[in-house]
Amino acid sequence: MDLLDGAGVADPRLQAEVLLAHAIHCERSYFFAHPERELKEVEWIHYGRYLNDRMQGKPTQYITGNQEFYGRDFRVTPAVLIPRPETEHLVEAVLAALPNPARILDVGTGSGAIAITLALEAACHTVFATDISLKALKVATQNAFTRRAQIPFLNADLLTAIADQSLDAVVSNPPYVSSTDADLMQREVRDWEPHLALFAGATGLDIYRSLIPAAARVLKRGGLLAMEFGFGQAEALTALVSDWSGVEIKPDLAGIPRVLLCRKL
Ligand code: GLN
Repeated sequence: MDLLDGAGVADPRLQAEVLLAHAIHCERSYFFAHPERELKEVEWIHYGRYLNDRMQGKPTQYITGNQEFYGRDFRVTPAVLIPRPETEHLVEAVLAALPNPARILDVGTGSGAIAITLALEAACHTVFATDISLKALKVATQNAFTRRAQIPFLNADLLTAIADQSLDAVVSNPPYVSSTDADLMQREVRDWEPHLALFAGATGLDIYRSLIPAAARVLKRGGLLAMEFGFGQAEALTALVSDWSGVEIKPDLAGIPRVLLCRKL
């Protein structure tokens, strides 16, 4: 714990506990119940390696290969963004806004957390998903298999592979970080998470500029477009959907505007 603290790692005790639990293949609660348990040599070796990786800035989730999202565990690798609690608001807003059943496309699915959660929370929905990264799609496919969600995954740049014109919803947590903000980011994010999933040009809005017209092409009239966005982008993003109706902005738990919903006219 002192090692992690010294390396400037936030929440060092929790991180050390999670890494130790991972090294001994147990839940964190196990070693509170068994304080007498001694580590085997191989467990010390693993734990030492994990601590070292964490001190170098590698996110704990990439070390354990796991992140919880909407009450379920998802496998994560450095090929995918680590699902954030903020993104649960996107899922929640979409579930509340959709008719049953609905046909939903998740664009840039990464770990598949959004698509899989939507499919499992509302079994009547048909969900499919795209990603430009084959490595990400491999992780998403594994997650869908583990969680028993039936989701076709397509390798595509945004919506280029989609011929459909009658979808009920397009959902996305696209890259939206401004490239000029890279220096301000936590090193765990900037140095370890996939830049393809994070950065979108100098304003952070580049992907929305392609995504929004592409979504209009595949949605039916009245269809829902739901997107996550970053701090300070609400106004600029609202301007990009000026020819859509029913624009709604929802905040995250920190009160920061985070999700935009709108309908195709
Ligand atoms: N929420 C992420 C961050 O703050 C960014 C995710 C994204 O660009 N979609 O780093």
